[in-house]
Amino acid sequence: MTPFDFVRPHSLSQAVALLDPDDPHVLPVGGATALIQMMKVGVLRPTRLVFLDRVEALHSEIRVDAQGNLHLGGLARLSALEHSSLVQQGWPVLTRALHNLANVRVRNVATVGGCMAHADPHMDLPPILAALGAHAVVLGPTGERVVSIEALHLGYYEVALARNELIAKVVVPPMGPKLAAYSKVTTRVKHDWPALGLAVSVALADDGCLREVSLVLGAVMDKPTRLVSVEDMLRGTRPDDKVLREAGAVAAASLDIVGDTHGSASYKKQLLRTYIGRTVRVALGAAHEGIAQ
Ligand SMILES: Cc1cc2nc3c(=O)[nH]c(=O)nc-3n(C[C@H](O)[C@H](O)[C@H](O)COP(=O)(O)OP(=O)(O)OC[C@H]3O[C@@H](n4cnc5c(N)ncnc54)[C@H](O)[C@@H]3O)c2cc1C
Repeated sequence: MTPFDFVRPHSLSQAVALLDPDDPHVLPVGGATALIQMMKVGVLRPTRLVFLDRVEALHSEIRVDAQGNLHLGGLARLSALEHSSLVQQGWPVLTRALHNLANVRVRNVATVGGCMAHADPHMDLPPILAALGAHAVVLGPTGERVVSIEALHLGYYEVALARNELIAKVVVPPMGPKLAAYSKVTTRVKHDWPALGLAVSVALADDGCLREVSLVLGAVMDKPTRLVSVEDMLRGTRPDDKVLREAGAVAAASLDIVGDTHGSASYKKQLLRTYIGRTVRVALGAAHEGIAQ
């Protein structure tokens, strides 16, 4: 490992000032769970690390505002989300997904900001947060801006952030009448990296037809991918077996899926065919059973 400076600012704006818009070797650090791995294999060779662990506590807050939006501080640990009663009550799909994300040692140190900025397309939370319509609040030298989680990821390890911008928080809208589920399909243990991740958020109209549909995939392309054509196809329909089977077939046919060490492209396509219907059914079932996935 090459030597590097290590700085620990006390505020997020100080942290921004310590980053360098022109130098890719100056990097922020949340929990370091991803960054250290990449340093060990030589993918990243930083000259300065801006460690965010001493930044003011307000950036670790998990709270619900007067409009019912969930605010997840960029420095909140994933284990704090996992055990938050606010998250469990209002957004249980996140709680359930967190139980199977990596392991307790990773969740105890990994942060919301690091989790969003790492941009490995296999990650579990970005597809869920995109399906729920969440956005990131990003702090840079000239102030804050908002980026939808869907627009945040550009490709493998690529995010729509300048080198001197930080994720200050993630805001998730209230679920309202929506029901959500996430299927994490692994080939080994259940908390492994997924061969397929599928996040579903749906709302039913009074006549039992799907009024709102949001489907976002992880682990099959180079970034979380919304299944727009399948959403359009499902909206306004009654989600019976035939409709869901057709949706699975259309989803599998519409994507140029990339195989990886977790599964070949054809295996992932087969998973997709099956899991569209399965995950929509689990989301809808959650209304009656209080569980999903
Ligand atoms: C053994 C293991 C198993 C794993 N399994 C899973 C899994 O099953 N599912 C899953 O989803 N993930 C999994 N992960 C990945 C894990 O979720 C990430 O490592 C973690 O979320 C990264 O968060 P961090 O705070 O440690 O980020 P760091 O490692 O500190 O940083 C990651 C990246 O984000 C940048 N960054 C950090 N904070 C900010 C910020 N506030 N603003 C902007 N940029 C920032 C860093 O510069 C770096 O580029 C696994 C990781 C490990 C080590």
